[in-house]
Amino acid sequence: MTIRIDEEKVFRLIEERHPRGIVVNAPGGLQAQTRALTEKIREKYGVSCLLVGDSCFGICDTVDEEVEKLDADMALHIGHNAAVSMVGDYTYLIDATDDVSFDGVIEKAIPQLRSMKYERIGLVTFSQHLHELKPARMKFEAAGFQVFLGKRNNLLLESQVFGCDFSTAYPIRNEVEARRKRAILSVYKAMDAKVFGVITGLKEGQKMLGRTNWIVKRLEMHGRRGVQLAMRDITPERLAPLRDVDAFIQTACPRISIDGFTFDRPVLSIPQADALVSLLEGREIGEFLQRPKWIELTVGLIPRRK
Ligand code: SF4
Repeated sequence: MTIRIDEEKVFRLIEERHPRGIVVNAPGGLQAQTRALTEKIREKYGVSCLLVGDSCFGICDTVDEEVEKLDADMALHIGHNAAVSMVGDYTYLIDATDDVSFDGVIEKAIPQLRSMKYERIGLVTFSQHLHELKPARMKFEAAGFQVFLGKRNNLLLESQVFGCDFSTAYPIRNEVEARRKRAILSVYKAMDAKVFGVITGLKEGQKMLGRTNWIVKRLEMHGRRGVQLAMRDITPERLAPLRDVDAFIQTACPRISIDGFTFDRPVLSIPQADALVSLLEGREIGEFLQRPKWIELTVGLIPRRK
């Protein structure tokens, strides 16, 4: 497996924009290749190029704010390809692609899907594998399946999903339903909570102080107490000492709430918190996961609520 960063785009940008300093960040799995790229940039152009070593989980997690702090004038965010090419004031998105082949998986999947009597299937993927969609589609079609891809939108490319935005997959994917059920269950569990920890994410695209203030006010209007917190990484260990808190709401990544971590209390994302407020106000829970998409706020495609 080899991951390839789109260096040609990086070099083109540098030649067009002549930056005096560049700040770069990338997910953990791409740190080694990104470091090699920063060295190449320094050698080729004599430009200062600084790799930020903090965790980096998604397109919400850029280093746009570090640019001025570090006396640079351009940022590169590696590996979270999307339909937009820039985020914030300084940050260019640089694609990375993974050459892992899906042939073996497809060969195994075909007999299993047939044995389960599936005839129509949907394909979705994360950024690094987008180029595999068409070959995968052709293989499934050659095996007699009807194949559906998700429609591109203003943020996601065709059949692309982020952990927090799988809107391209809504029409085609059962997994969406499973996530929706998990998300709803947590909202109902949080209805019994008296004290809420309302956490503002400290990562760049995750700071939503306006939203946390709004949520705290709504909770208090309905007899709950809201404790305002701020955190860079939200994990069970970080929340464990806060024993007097019955449930949490966080403005960081919705995946924290819906996938992955095993929290001992409900930890709601912003869309789930909106659903909770609806219930507290006697309204329907609604299609909260399909409302103005979270990540579109963070990359500035729709205005933030103050
Ligand atoms: S908010 Fe979205 S883009 Fe950001 S880390 Fe979470 S899943 Fe990834």
